[in-house]
Amino acid sequence: MPSHKRSLFQALSGPQLGILVAGTLLVLLIATDHYLQSRRPAYVPTDLDRLLMLAKAHPDETIRKDLIASVASGKLVLDTAVLGASTNGTFSAPGGKPTITIDAPLLVAAGNRSGQEIAFAVLTHEYEHYLQWLHVPAVRTIHAAYAANTPLNAEQCVLKVANESDAYVASCEAARRYQWHAAIANECESIGNSQWAARFAGHVTDLPECLKTWNSMMRQDLPAPVPATAEQARTLVEHSEGADQ
Ligand SMILES: [Zn+2]
Repeated sequence: MPSHKRSLFQALSGPQLGILVAGTLLVLLIATDHYLQSRRPAYVPTDLDRLLMLAKAHPDETIRKDLIASVASGKLVLDTAVLGASTNGTFSAPGGKPTITIDAPLLVAAGNRSGQEIAFAVLTHEYEHYLQWLHVPAVRTIHAAYAANTPLNAEQCVLKVANESDAYVASCEAARRYQWHAAIANECESIGNSQWAARFAGHVTDLPECLKTWNSMMRQDLPAPVPATAEQARTLVEHSEGADQ
């Protein structure tokens, strides 16, 4: 005789029981996972993690793929350091190993959109220097001169100015293409006008060895008018070479 007091399990049909058991297991699983996660230390990315994430998120497919492949194959080193207020990134070749170094605080700031736009522009600029190093043999002589602590000659100074100009143009073209508004406002708005020229000249005066070179080319004892564009640098050297002959 069937009892009126049936247990819950008895009252449920086979499929209903299955759903109940599966549901209970799911709740237990979620609770366990939540417990484990709460005991796991929070993930804090290192500066290098941030830089690799930035490279992998770069919207230019060519740059993104080449950066990832070059780092994976050991052709290029991506590194971070605290570079100081006026330097967001550098390209160097210590021991002949091309290395892009990005300012660590800049990478922390890349956690928000405008910070990320600026960091993308900086990475684009330094990537352009990497391409110059790869494809222009004379660029490697500049890095060799730095390593040997010898002054740059006139041609190397002109190349340096041209390379800086090209790197700024590359990063600003990308900033316009991908609408990195923060990067455009910070770096690129003034390109092509006198404000840009003054800013660029300021950047070039970071090279004291080239200041001497400009001075000797101008045959003046006064501090040389630093060429503000790659074109001015070329013209200066051409005039200087003309005067020598
Ligand atoms: Zn540069």
